[in-house]
Amino acid sequence: MTPSTLPTLHAARPHDLIALEDRLGAHNYRPLDVMIERAEGAWVWDTAGRRYLDALSAYSAVNQGHRHPRILAALTEQAGRVTLTSRAFRNDQLGAFYEVLTRLTGFEAVLPMNTGAEAVETAIKLARKWGYERRGLAPQTAEIIVMDGNFHGRTTTLVSFSSEGQYRDLFGPLTPGFRTVPYGNAAALEAAVTPRTVAVLLEPVQGEAGVVVPPDGFLRAVRACCDRHGLLMLADEIQTGLGRTGRWLACDHEGVRPDVVTLGKALGGGVYPVSAVLADRAVMDVFRPGDHGSTFGGNPLAAAVGRASLEVLADERLIERAEVLGRRLLARLRDLRSPLIREVRGRGLLVGVELTVPARPYCEQLQTLGLLCKETHGTVIRLAPPLVVDEADLDWAVACLAQVLHV
Ligand SMILES: *Cc1c(COP(=O)(O)O)cnc(C)c1O
Repeated sequence: MTPSTLPTLHAARPHDLIALEDRLGAHNYRPLDVMIERAEGAWVWDTAGRRYLDALSAYSAVNQGHRHPRILAALTEQAGRVTLTSRAFRNDQLGAFYEVLTRLTGFEAVLPMNTGAEAVETAIKLARKWGYERRGLAPQTAEIIVMDGNFHGRTTTLVSFSSEGQYRDLFGPLTPGFRTVPYGNAAALEAAVTPRTVAVLLEPVQGEAGVVVPPDGFLRAVRACCDRHGLLMLADEIQTGLGRTGRWLACDHEGVRPDVVTLGKALGGGVYPVSAVLADRAVMDVFRPGDHGSTFGGNPLAAAVGRASLEVLADERLIERAEVLGRRLLARLRDLRSPLIREVRGRGLLVGVELTVPARPYCEQLQTLGLLCKETHGTVIRLAPPLVVDEADLDWAVACLAQVLHV
């Protein structure tokens, strides 16, 4: 830390800024070279003033649209009073946030964290302790069944059971206690249950795996399997929850109520990281003071932003909107007849267009047309615009795809 003053130079031109990032930053991402400087609703603008439809929504973190006025107002009002107290003291925002979150989701209790990965880590700790205390398993023996193709975040425990070699292999030693079964295969799940199994962890639609929708009845079969063997069903709804698939929770599509749900991303309305674990008392109460915590989790700024983010989804009927617009988007995409398209699938406004070829060059072409999206799993173009997107803008996005796919 030698310099006593910081350099005053700030490179003004995008390619200088890119060079700065490349020279000074870790290279753990490979972004498209679009430099965003402003955003509103479903749209973002680059430093040259070009406008793009944001069809990624920061992986569903901006379901409410960029810079929603009501969420920004909650942020700035709360910032003007108090932002962080730690949980060593109480704050006057947390109770109201819990009240709205439990009322909208129907769970009895909330444990607030910050990032999605932390919420899933918390759910895993909760399930393990529940297994030892309520099921009487010998310490250190609990197993959790997870799904092939899962994505739950990037901590060492979470990548321990990733199916992606790159996410996992050179980050060991790995956390034991996980067993992987094929996604969507109820018989394989049933066969993997052992006396040590305490829980099943799954995404109701696998987002990062390429928008993989499980076969009809799979979520109900998971629920039934958990009931039969006394296991907790843990649903990671960090990407699928809060309206993205046209329901508050994607598990609602099959009328299934998990025992534990993780939320994140849109819970912070795209302005602040807010995540949470939901469960009923019988499960949540295995956590006692000192068992778990987070300096920032449940801070007053997060609580105020979280509550506003939920109220916007409810009051603007964005869940219903995702359902209606999602149907329309899926139908239009399925009408595209291109030999490059292998399959179109999705739920609500979480849609994947699987190509027969790598998707990255097509995402780059879409960028030049003003449509921002990111390939996932190599060959899939994921379309997940903010739920406030206009119908006409969605139709335009489909026209862009038709153009680059030469329909
Ligand atoms: C994004 C995501 C996570 C991780 O959230 P972070 O906030 O990036 O830690 C976990 N699970 C699912 C399903 C996700 O989509």
